[in-house]
Amino acid sequence: MDCALLTFSCLCYYNPMNMVCLDLEGVLIPEIWIAFSNAVGIPELRRTTRDEPDYDKLMNFRIDILTKNNLKLPDIQRVISCMDPLPGAFEFSDALRKKYQLVILSDTFEQFAKPLMAKLSFPSLFCNSLEIAKDGTVTGYRLRQQNGKREAVKAFKSINMRVFAAGDSFNDLSMIREADGGCLFRAPEQIRKDCSDLTCTDSFDDLQKKIDDFFICL
Ligand SMILES: [Mg+2]
Repeated sequence: MDCALLTFSCLCYYNPMNMVCLDLEGVLIPEIWIAFSNAVGIPELRRTTRDEPDYDKLMNFRIDILTKNNLKLPDIQRVISCMDPLPGAFEFSDALRKKYQLVILSDTFEQFAKPLMAKLSFPSLFCNSLEIAKDGTVTGYRLRQQNGKREAVKAFKSINMRVFAAGDSFNDLSMIREADGGCLFRAPEQIRKDCSDLTCTDSFDDLQKKIDDFFICL
């Protein structure tokens, strides 16, 4: 698209009151725990929020495996530093930011986020934190708040933003349902089946169209 056309297209849609809330892993970047699982050869660590609805159970399970295998934060950060956003994710998020306010609502951790957010030009990110001992051992995690994704959408709506939300996992469902509009993105079969009332998009082009159509109809 040439420059004049791109500017025209973005200005048609640009409205700072319209906000897009996106999940991070599985949407813009690969699943960090799956990449780490592959790097260290521990298949149990492949389990993610796409498979396990209970986040506390999932995190305690992960921390237990890390402790048993003497794996520490720097081991995970080394793997993350070699990861890249999913193909097309940079272009997609960059185009979104020219039309809408974009906020990433993620259950990842501040200690994981920086290298990949740098590769996405640092969109706004709300996430959680890990509790780390002096020697780098992961001892626990701290949620920013309970059900933080849904509460963030609620808060944006309370200040009169119009919100569209998309994500791929169990932990995105309440955010999508709380938003004015939303859909699943590349969700696993089980979630598509359980949530047949939600549309699932599978490409950035389709997600972009769904978002544009939602806001243009308001
Ligand atoms: Mg996800």
